[in-house]
Amino acid sequence: MNAQQSSEKPYTYKKYGSTYVVSIANHTDLAESILTFCKDMKITAGSINGIGAINEATLRFYNPKTKQYVDKTFKEQMEVANLTGNVSMMNGETYTHLHCVLGRSDYTAIAGHLLTATLNGACEIVITTFDSPIERYYDEETGLNMYRF
Ligand code: FE
Repeated sequence: MNAQQSSEKPYTYKKYGSTYVVSIANHTDLAESILTFCKDMKITAGSINGIGAINEATLRFYNPKTKQYVDKTFKEQMEVANLTGNVSMMNGETYTHLHCVLGRSDYTAIAGHLLTATLNGACEIVITTFDSPIERYYDEETGLNMYRF
């Protein structure tokens, strides 16, 4: 396959009922491509899971004492052993929340909140959508964007 054209979508997909099966384009940013997909499909609530391979990732760890995220970048080939997340809405914008477990070449794993990751190989995602939106709000106590039901 030819290199990704800037005008092309960073994914291909097939829909099965309320579920999408998505192949993310190689060399794109995984988190950004998933967000683009959710926006394009107007998904306002859902569950995400996937597997794949990347060669760079920035993970976040949330420190509840400081209410700050600590980011760390890993530049190496890794398996996305598990990508788990969800889709919701916040202030009218599509909001994805992604966590991942990444497998290293020595078979150990690192994990965290996924900020960015550069796909190097393939990434296969399943997004199950729900039929009414889930909204978030900023919670002062935790410093987190929480579900509002
Ligand atoms: Fe998180």
